[in-house]
Amino acid sequence: MDELKYELDLLKAKNEKLIEDERMYREICENSDCAYLYVDIYKNKVKTIGKWSNFFDFDINTVSDLDKLYDAVGEDFSLSLRDTINAEKSGKKQAFCECQKLKGRMWIKVSVTALFDDKDEITHKIITLENITKLKFQSDELTYMAYYDALTGLYNRNYFVRCLAEFVDSARENDGIVSVMMMDIDDFKKVNDSLGIVVGDEVIQQFGSYLKTLTSETVIASHLSSDVYCLAIKNPAGATSVEKIYRQIKKRLEEHFALSDGRSVTIDISVGVSEYPESADNALELINCAEIVLFKSKELGKNTIQFFDTSVLNEFIHSVEMENKLKDAVFNRNFILYYQPQYFVESKKLRGMEALIRWKDTDNQMISPASFIPIAEKNGAIIPIGGWVVEQAISQYSEWSKKYGISFIMSINVSALQCGKEDFVDNILRLIEKYEVEPSEIEIEVTESILIDDFDVVSAKLMKLREKGLRISLDDFGTGYSSLSYLKKLPIDTLKIDKSFMDTVLNDSTTKIVTESIINMIRTLGYESIAEGVEVKEQYDYLQKAGCDVIQGYLFSKPKSAEELNDMLLKEYGEIRGLL
Ligand code: C2E
Ligand code: CA
Ligand code: CA
Repeated sequence: MDELKYELDLLKAKNEKLIEDERMYREICENSDCAYLYVDIYKNKVKTIGKWSNFFDFDINTVSDLDKLYDAVGEDFSLSLRDTINAEKSGKKQAFCECQKLKGRMWIKVSVTALFDDKDEITHKIITLENITKLKFQSDELTYMAYYDALTGLYNRNYFVRCLAEFVDSARENDGIVSVMMMDIDDFKKVNDSLGIVVGDEVIQQFGSYLKTLTSETVIASHLSSDVYCLAIKNPAGATSVEKIYRQIKKRLEEHFALSDGRSVTIDISVGVSEYPESADNALELINCAEIVLFKSKELGKNTIQFFDTSVLNEFIHSVEMENKLKDAVFNRNFILYYQPQYFVESKKLRGMEALIRWKDTDNQMISPASFIPIAEKNGAIIPIGGWVVEQAISQYSEWSKKYGISFIMSINVSALQCGKEDFVDNILRLIEKYEVEPSEIEIEVTESILIDDFDVVSAKLMKLREKGLRISLDDFGTGYSSLSYLKKLPIDTLKIDKSFMDTVLNDSTTKIVTESIINMIRTLGYESIAEGVEVKEQYDYLQKAGCDVIQGYLFSKPKSAEELNDMLLKEYGEIRGLL
């Protein structure tokens, strides 16, 4: 009896434990966000547990076998579910799939675990359904970010380079061509400065979206950085030729971009084009080459397209080499000043000298300022170089003027960047004081280009120098704007007629008429005229007749070193001072 009671108690205890365990498993399952299916293979019966209502609208309790389940889940999902559940047919003991339930756009991960008997036969399967929509979107977003530019939706740089490399590989195998068009929005800084970066971004985005419409299997587009885009075209021809695409883009740019705040903007672009195999034989070099010619097209006045050729590359290499050498030269002060005398036409007396920089290269070769000043202006080296020129010229003038007791005008060329510096005016005034020269003996030479960016600020600075007694001269006159109304607003004393007039004045009647009218106009405005580049006597005679005030040129003297000019001054004025 006791034995029976013991057995009964044991059974009861086991039963309670079973109920307890069952409750625990059920709670765990019900509290997870998954849905579970327990399939009895032999009986073709299913048991379900978990959050089926998270996945499907039907009542899971009505599902008693797999066929009913397939019917209930709907067509878009049943096929992948069936494949996963029967994964062992393709030799897998465990499997999962990610399928999208179209309605509700839910991503479901289905995993299957099979249970086996002693004979290794499957008896049961446990199927788990898990909602992975959030994870999936997160990873989609990461994938997107890895390949695309968030602002424009175009390929990002890395992905573009990868796809371009594939284009190049296939072109290599099939004797094909790949063109790369790099584009940069002209004066984009102005859009940003005047309309703000939010609007700037909107322009970048809208132009990017437009470029996307041009893409296809053989045309890919990328937003490389800020306002730079790049297209790669596989086997360009017909509608996808570079010219056609360029024309298409230009046509779009004739119309404005409508901004969300109601305003609108129009933009221009500069384009550089390189081509496989002609320009380079790999993706990165093709991009570099396109960038080099893009710079070139910017230099040519923007809003143009420029194609790669070796002369552009050589020019670029030369300017890079020059830039590097220039850095050393600035550091080692490898510059000297030459001076070119200027003479009054009538009296043939010395009017002054123009200080012209010379760069003595490491192998003692003289490099012309015409080739390095533009580079120094671009990379900012002109600031230390120009500062040195101003001090050197003023101190040299001071030395001569004191030594020979003479007074003439020392003309110094300054460029825009130099003039833009805050202490530009103060620095010159300080040097005039330091070297004890008269302000009227120093002349600052500027070109019209200096005034283009910020006319008011620059002309105010020149005005200040002029008020202090310095002379201002406008260089290369006749090559730029040169409008009368604009000239009148400038604080100038002297106009230098550009050398190009002298090149043709003797045998071209139009130049003759223009030169005469320029000289007359200069006189009417009350300025002094200097003709540059006078090389022969006939030019001098002509200028004398036309009423030009001063000449500068090889006819009287080439630019010379300080030593040579010292000899000249010694001969001319040394005797008077008892120096000879
Ligand atoms: P620029 O100011 O127009 O200087 C006149 C140029 O014409 C000088 O060239 C001079 O040597 C040259 N020249 C003078 N007379 C004749 C002539 O009869 N025939 C010919 N064929 N040429 C003549 P350079 O010295 O090579 O200077 C070139 C340019 O470099 C200058 O043009 C000026 O724009 C710039 N530059 C020179 N020195 C400086 C400087 O210290 N600072 C700045 N910012 N620019 C400078
Ligand atoms: Ca000059
Ligand atoms: Ca000049």
